[in-house]
Amino acid sequence: MTEDKRPVVTPDSAPQEIDKRLVELAWKRAHLQAFLESDRLSDEQLADYERQLEAVLDEEAPLEAAYNRRRWSRWWWVPNGHLHREGKCSTLYQSTELRLTPAASGLSDEELVDKFGWYVCTTCYPDAPALPSFRTPGTYAAEQADAEGWCLNTVPSYVDRRYRSPYGGCNDCDATGVAVTSLGKLRKHKHQRRADAADREARIKDPKLIGTATGEPLMVDRSEIKTRRTAEIDWVRHMEYAHPDGWGRDDEGRAEERRFARQIAEALAAKDQVTVEEIEAELMPKVEAKIRKAKREFERSQR
Ligand SMILES: [Zn+2]
Ligand SMILES: [Zn+2]
Repeated sequence: MTEDKRPVVTPDSAPQEIDKRLVELAWKRAHLQAFLESDRLSDEQLADYERQLEAVLDEEAPLEAAYNRRRWSRWWWVPNGHLHREGKCSTLYQSTELRLTPAASGLSDEELVDKFGWYVCTTCYPDAPALPSFRTPGTYAAEQADAEGWCLNTVPSYVDRRYRSPYGGCNDCDATGVAVTSLGKLRKHKHQRRADAADREARIKDPKLIGTATGEPLMVDRSEIKTRRTAEIDWVRHMEYAHPDGWGRDDEGRAEERRFARQIAEALAAKDQVTVEEIEAELMPKVEAKIRKAKREFERSQR
């Protein structure tokens, strides 16, 4: 057994240090417990694993006790890309894959949003979207994205063998469709969540691109609008149908077009940091001009 070189974590250490150690210990404990279930162990191995397990439990106990005494804030990562407050959120109980996130431990809510941006669950912290840093992936995710960009996990969450080349999913980075080797391991793949985070950041920061206010793909009428320019064109097109003098067939059709236009206007407003009304006021003359022009052409054709 190799000696740990890390600084000693005590019940008085900072919440982030204690939780980081507890996560490491939990992994170690899970591995040892799995080893101990094997029936092919020699007595010597068995005794060694049991000793190691004992040591893990001995180290965990005072640290867990420290948490129960000090009760700092704790946040849990659920692999749909959000951080949830301990004990507070309904989505926590529906998920089997929970991860304590030591980097969030002991932070105030505002500090948390600075660090994790849009990853913070808005059910757990309803005021989060009002904070400017909610529109960013946070300093923490930015640091993560700087790291290589490859996911190191090789254990698939599922494997699909219906096709000649089997593929699987990754619980670590949420990638799907990753090639699986003949030994059932995931091949090296791009870290999906980091790639998604980079895409979101681009949709917010790149002046030519567009996404929702939080950087998600802007899906309108079942297709994605990717650029600012096409968003404006599409807004005008939808409003040509939604306008009372426009081409909409009936009230229902006009209302639907109005909803699509509204979605786009909200995205444009977030992009320019102005109100939806300002966006609409800026683009509406184009709609009216198009309708007038079409009417003139129609009248000319009738002469
Ligand atoms: Zn939540
Ligand atoms: Zn992965």
